[in-house]
Amino acid sequence: MKIYRNISALITPLGKTALRGDGMRKNIVTVKDATIVVNDDGIITDVGSEKEILEKNKGITEEIDCKGLLALPGFVDSHTHAVFMGERSNEFCMRAEGRSYQEIASAGGGIHSSVEQVRHASAKEISQYSQKFVRNALSLGTTTMEIKSGYGLSAESEITLLHAAKRIGELTGMEIVRTWLGAHAVPKEKTQTEYIEELINEQLPRVIKEQAAEFCDVFCDEGYFTNEETERICNAAKRAGMKIKLHADELAGTGGAALAAKLGSYSADHLLKISNAGIVALAKSERTVATLLPITAMCIRSPYAPARKMIEAGCAVAIATDCNPGSSMSENMQLAISLAVIGMQMLPEEALIAATLNGAAAIDRATTHGSIEKGKIADFVLYDIPSLSYLAYHIGVSDIVTVVKNGKMVSGIL
Ligand SMILES: [Zn+2]
Repeated sequence: MKIYRNISALITPLGKTALRGDGMRKNIVTVKDATIVVNDDGIITDVGSEKEILEKNKGITEEIDCKGLLALPGFVDSHTHAVFMGERSNEFCMRAEGRSYQEIASAGGGIHSSVEQVRHASAKEISQYSQKFVRNALSLGTTTMEIKSGYGLSAESEITLLHAAKRIGELTGMEIVRTWLGAHAVPKEKTQTEYIEELINEQLPRVIKEQAAEFCDVFCDEGYFTNEETERICNAAKRAGMKIKLHADELAGTGGAALAAKLGSYSADHLLKISNAGIVALAKSERTVATLLPITAMCIRSPYAPARKMIEAGCAVAIATDCNPGSSMSENMQLAISLAVIGMQMLPEEALIAATLNGAAAIDRATTHGSIEKGKIADFVLYDIPSLSYLAYHIGVSDIVTVVKNGKMVSGIL
């Protein structure tokens, strides 16, 4: 048992499910002069104001003085593609010249250039290369991270990426949740029909056999996978016991959000082109979290997703980095929060909930992660900041002093 004491203020959402609508403003508390008690399994056994907690927990000898810093829950980054090989800064420059996502893809850039590099690498090489991004994320306050495959596009290479993602967790101490995104694009050597057969009959059985991923994701969008194809792949994955996530309504409004709700997907992600009907479908859905990726919108020079409209309609909104070498080369959740406030008119409280508890719900971890509460995993971050708003306001600069994962200080020193 140990006690983290002398926390000037602790700010956390409350609950074990995603918060929606005005719950994203109301279900958040500030505890002044706070203390957190953590057991040897890294679980919070008590949290509250110092006076009452110290009285109740006499006899615990290990005390950590948090020196008057401010505590927030660790970020749950629920959408990343952080296993890959090779960087694509050339495309970043092409975009500066005004070339579109589709133009870059037809010039040999995009997903296929990453696929080339991944197919020539081993799981060990990939984990060695990609671990730095995950290490950065941990030092920037992310304590749980979803990682998707999707740059292999063959049974062998997709499995290699998923093994690499697991290895990165072991190397860095980051908690990783793995998603199989074989349906990220169609590889050059196959037709659409051939590849969908491969996904269902070769890749999926291998992912299941090797327990390589918990979620199945599909890039449901114009030029990638149609709604009918998405439904077929997701239903096969569900029958095999997997949970679903979807890339939806990013490049074109194809009804992906409504499809995600219909499929019982844990999230519908991107949503730059979501329709009013899509917003209504997500607001009605009990499970599907609207996951917005503002760094990507900025990088592809798109208008942001209509977060305000979604929150007012009663959707549960999460934000994530979408860390990937093409359209969002950032593992910084604090930047996503700043952009949520600046570009999507979210309040700092809503952005924090979106980056923690609602992110946890988007990867089915809301009962154990995403808030600093009794019974949850002790994942929290100590900041040298005067208020929550300051986190969004101090753009692109981290004021983190220490990151605590499973009750242990894993980055920075007090
Ligand atoms: Zn993505």
